[in-house]
Amino acid sequence: MQKISFRPFIIFSSIAALAITAGIFFYWRQVTILLEQDVRSHIADTTKESARDFDRVADTDREILATTALSFEDSYPWKEDSFLSEMLARFDQNEHFHLLGLALKDGRTFYSSPSSSLSAEALRDILKNTANGKFYFTVRPREKEKYTSSILVQAVPLDPNEGAPVGALFAVQKEDYYKKILGFSPAENEEKSFIIDRSGNTILSSEENPTPNVFSILEHVKLDTHPSVGEVRKAILQGESPLVGYYTEDGLHNFLQFVPLAINGWYMVATIPVKHVEEQAAQVAKLSLILFGVVFVVFYCLLFFIMRLREDSKQQLFTTAFVDSLTGADNFNRMCEQFDNKLDGLYHQAALVIFDINKFKVINDLHGYERGNEVLKRVAQVLQQELAPEECFCRLSADNFVLLLEYKDRPSFLKRLKALATQLKRDCTLEDSRIMLDISFGIYEITEEIPFYIMLDRAHLALDRAKQRTFDKCEFYETADRTRIVTEQQIENNMASALANKEFEVFLQPKCDFATGQIRGAEALVRWNHDGHMVRPDEFIPLFERNGFILQLDMFILEEVARVLSQWRKNNKPVVPLAVNFSRLHLNDARFIPQMRRIMAQYDVPTSLVEAEITESVIFNNLERAQEVIGGLHLYGFPVSMDDFGSGYSSLNVLKELKFDSIKLDKEFLAGFGENPRAQKVIQGAISMLKTLGVKVITEGVESREQAEFLRACGADLAQGYFFSRPVTVSTFEQLLAKKTLW
Ligand code: C2E
Ligand code: MG
Ligand code: MG
Repeated sequence: MQKISFRPFIIFSSIAALAITAGIFFYWRQVTILLEQDVRSHIADTTKESARDFDRVADTDREILATTALSFEDSYPWKEDSFLSEMLARFDQNEHFHLLGLALKDGRTFYSSPSSSLSAEALRDILKNTANGKFYFTVRPREKEKYTSSILVQAVPLDPNEGAPVGALFAVQKEDYYKKILGFSPAENEEKSFIIDRSGNTILSSEENPTPNVFSILEHVKLDTHPSVGEVRKAILQGESPLVGYYTEDGLHNFLQFVPLAINGWYMVATIPVKHVEEQAAQVAKLSLILFGVVFVVFYCLLFFIMRLREDSKQQLFTTAFVDSLTGADNFNRMCEQFDNKLDGLYHQAALVIFDINKFKVINDLHGYERGNEVLKRVAQVLQQELAPEECFCRLSADNFVLLLEYKDRPSFLKRLKALATQLKRDCTLEDSRIMLDISFGIYEITEEIPFYIMLDRAHLALDRAKQRTFDKCEFYETADRTRIVTEQQIENNMASALANKEFEVFLQPKCDFATGQIRGAEALVRWNHDGHMVRPDEFIPLFERNGFILQLDMFILEEVARVLSQWRKNNKPVVPLAVNFSRLHLNDARFIPQMRRIMAQYDVPTSLVEAEITESVIFNNLERAQEVIGGLHLYGFPVSMDDFGSGYSSLNVLKELKFDSIKLDKEFLAGFGENPRAQKVIQGAISMLKTLGVKVITEGVESREQAEFLRACGADLAQGYFFSRPVTVSTFEQLLAKKTLW
């Protein structure tokens, strides 16, 4: 299984996290700048507004005072002191001022409220500053015995004679009155406002304990913007608005704003620490961060989900493309893909092995496909356990597996395969079946750099040879295998012309009657007369079966046999039935019986004279079809013989079902005849069993008199073998036929 790769996700996440962090930082900076600008313009606006308010109130007060003064002047000369006191009390009825008073040059003073008064010094100042006929406005520090806070004193001259003021009319306002109007209150946001005179002295402040002089602070703080303290001081002295933005005090950043007032060259000043702005910005950034976080998490979840989906579909694709659906192991595509990597140039240190479960079809037929599949799955499991991590395998097709294994030398490699075969037999054989797995290995020791498919071909060639062996079914690829392939290629190139040139000849091998020794028939065996050299069928028939050419060759032999029979008949020679071997391929060829009939008709030979020999394995693998074909042959009068009985897996059931005219015992039965007494018993049993079915029993491969005597005693009907005659040419056979007996 391939692991899900989250690398791109992690890379993307890291980049996104960096981008978002940078974004937040940038955003925070922007928010701070904007807030600073906002606070600056706010402080500028409010300061200007306060200044306007102050000017307006001062103006109003002056006008009220001036109008009141006119009333006093109009009633000049004043008769009695009580008149002045009453007038003052009357004017003060609306309580606009805290106190109204008259200070006369002759030293007399009058107050609207008898309980209040001003110090002598204050009164002196009033008279002095109004002597020139001007409006006087001042702030007096708190006079402890009289006032709890500073007071603002405004005064206008009383000049009834026009030119020589006799005194002044003054009004007192407590500083709280102005503070209230100007909104001077200790602010939560540490904003400070105060009014200063030209020397920077604080006249009115929002603070309880205000800084006495603004320049004394500015002198030991750092002005962050353009003007120096000196320049600020100069600008104020000249009544200009100094362009001040920031100053730093005790490491804290503060805004600073000066706005000139209309009275006495005073200034309205406001400051606010930047820290406050920063706190607000941090608050905004915090909220933004939370919002970002939420968006980020949602985005990531979505991204993760998409990645998962992508990985899942990739995994599915991988499974479809590279996994064998039955066993869950790698499939051939996967093996091709990783072969070069796995091999890693290790020539002479690796081997490619193909193995095949022999007669796997039997397991399927006897136990069903599901059980067969179970076996294959177990095989894959065993291989998975047994192979080293750097080795690999795949299921090539049905019961074929390909393995890439480490290789040192032949003995140790064969030992390993033997152990593997033993384990496969032990672990993969079905519990309730007696059938043991039988495995053939074809091995290609990787010695040169050739394409994978050629290595595979070579292992296949070795496997073909291994399958022909009875025991120790392990074969290494040899160069002779290649020669064989080359030869086969040549045969394939020549076969069509050989057929046209009649290079294929019919040889006949007599079938002899055990009882009389007479020839009762013969088997037609093909020979290839290739450049004067007789090639035996074993060398070309398997190849023709693979490439399908056998269909034409068999019909050619049949035609030759029909010609021989028709000539015997025409020439009144002795006639015996001749058997023709038919390949398994005919079974699935609908033209088979019609072609046979056409040839027989063409040569005018009765069908009873041509016997069809079909090998046992073909019949067993295709029972139903074999039954149909045998029925068809019988319908048109062809006798049918089962060839090579006992070489495969015939069951008695099959014999019972299929109506053969004769059964030919495989020559392998006689292989161990001399040495093994049990072999004789087996032959004896087989013959007597076959006889009970009522078929003619033919024994092939009889090579000695001893064998012939034994087989006759067992009750076999006909004999075929070198003891009687080798396959011979037709003319030689005719001579043998004339001899009447062979034994
Ligand atoms: P088969 O049909 O079982 O033929 C018997 C084979 O045993 C023949 O080999 C024959 O020469 C050989 N034989 C006969 N007597 C003896 C004996 O005493 N000892 C030994 N060791 N062998 C003996 P051959 O002619 O080489 O044919 C081999 C196989 O080729 C045949 O086996 C048959 O299956 C196939 N074959 C031959 N001719 C044809 C043909 O025309 N068409 C088809 N489809 N197959 C053919
Ligand atoms: Mg035969
Ligand atoms: Mg045979």
